[in-house]
Amino acid sequence: MTQPFLSLLGDIPTVTDPAIVRRKSRDFYWYSPLLKTLLDGLHADCLVVPRDEADVLAVARAARQTSTYLTARGGGTGNYGQAVPLHGGAVVDMSALDRILWVRDGVVRVQAGMNMLAMDRALREHGHELRMFPSTKRTATIGGFIAGGSGGIGSLVWGGLRNIGNVLGARVVTLEAEPRAVELRGEETRAINHAYGTTGLITELELPVAPFTDWQDLAFSFPTLAMAARFARTLAMQNGIDRKLVSLSDGGLLAYFAPLRDTAPAGHSIVIAMIAPSGLEATRALADAHGGALAYHAGTREAEDDPGRIPLYELTWNHTTLQVLKKDRTYTYLQAAFPARDTLALVEEMARLLPDEMMTHLEFMPMDGEISCAGLPVIRFTSTERLKEIIALYERNGILIANPHVYTIEDGGTHRVVSPALAADKWRFDPAGLLNPGKMRSFAQG
Ligand SMILES: Cc1cc2nc3c(=O)[nH]c(=O)nc-3n(C[C@H](O)[C@H](O)[C@H](O)COP(=O)(O)OP(=O)(O)OC[C@H]3O[C@@H](n4cnc5c(N)ncnc54)[C@H](O)[C@@H]3O)c2cc1C
Repeated sequence: MTQPFLSLLGDIPTVTDPAIVRRKSRDFYWYSPLLKTLLDGLHADCLVVPRDEADVLAVARAARQTSTYLTARGGGTGNYGQAVPLHGGAVVDMSALDRILWVRDGVVRVQAGMNMLAMDRALREHGHELRMFPSTKRTATIGGFIAGGSGGIGSLVWGGLRNIGNVLGARVVTLEAEPRAVELRGEETRAINHAYGTTGLITELELPVAPFTDWQDLAFSFPTLAMAARFARTLAMQNGIDRKLVSLSDGGLLAYFAPLRDTAPAGHSIVIAMIAPSGLEATRALADAHGGALAYHAGTREAEDDPGRIPLYELTWNHTTLQVLKKDRTYTYLQAAFPARDTLALVEEMARLLPDEMMTHLEFMPMDGEISCAGLPVIRFTSTERLKEIIALYERNGILIANPHVYTIEDGGTHRVVSPALAADKWRFDPAGLLNPGKMRSFAQG
């Protein structure tokens, strides 16, 4: 079916082995029992592996000429079937575009397929580090993070990926009638930010970086969720303490955390933090004043560099859910945005309303300039109807839900629409709808 397309690709590496193509057509959509039913078995017809931007352009031209669908792929760690081709075609594996191009004045220019751990290590040579990374840093690519992610470790200081200033520029191969590489600057990068690769194939990114810090992983245990939440919020607000991560998991989750379950009392709530050496003493004193006990301390990078160990950030963000799913596939999760007002009261109220079905998991970060938290509650799945009721319960309590059980950009957003600007970008850069078709619902309807 893709023979005419493949015949136009010259010496660009391609794969048609069905087992490999199927494997490279999957991501972590199976976190959702609903998406598992919808997406299991869907796959591309072939895989192409461009080596540089010229190859990406050749792939785009061949796709335009033969009306072949293209779905970009980085590390394949996306959650919502973002990288799953719904209608066949070719998966474009971007991981060979894996070099840093330059670093200067606190800014990095990088090829989009670069693995994020490799990128962070390379930045270290320049005295810098990633401002922000997903908990999948060891496997994800920077292009996949910008096209599919939303925030992560570092968001406590820098906010979400969509906050102005977090993406400075992007080079993108379009699927216009005559495909070309365009440079997007500043606000124009909204075209590719969390757009699931529906608007172009990103070849390069320009991002601000942070000064290198020798982060320390800390975990504190607390007898109650309320005590842990008060400490976590207070720590998150301390601008005098250099911190990259403040994450809270309730007592039910501790049993799934291998590095902590023998060091913290069973059933205790856990606050995980990444703190600079200069902030250790103040953080310990603050935890002490809130009734917390130190359960773990190690350098983040020593754990990260050892494949046999787990840096504590791999117990946070969406890795929290993964730690549970490794042991028990009856769980799933939601993504919630708590308002900055009455945050802790709402956290307690949701725990009270869902005592047997939900384990509380919070990531503290600023929202609209005030410290609040994103929630990734781990939910026991019983039925689709019950999941919908739980979503409605959160929303009735004023907590926005970004539904991770749907595969379109619109349905996964808190407002269920794409911005008019993003819709216009789609029409401009991919008028034939060849890029990751089916993921931007309003385009299909248009
Ligand atoms: C255990 C776990 C933890 C996670 N934690 C986080 C987290 O902390 N924060 C967060 O935001 N997300 C998180 N995620 C989601 C996901 O890991 C991140 O979005 C990650 O950065 C995706 O990178 P990737 O290279 O694996 O992308 P992929 O899964 O390969 O792709 C993601 C999307 O981007 C598109 N894409 C990839 N590369 C390109 C490109 N070069 N040009 C255009 N489009 C492209 C794909 O088509 C797809 O739509 C988590 C997922 C899992 C399974």
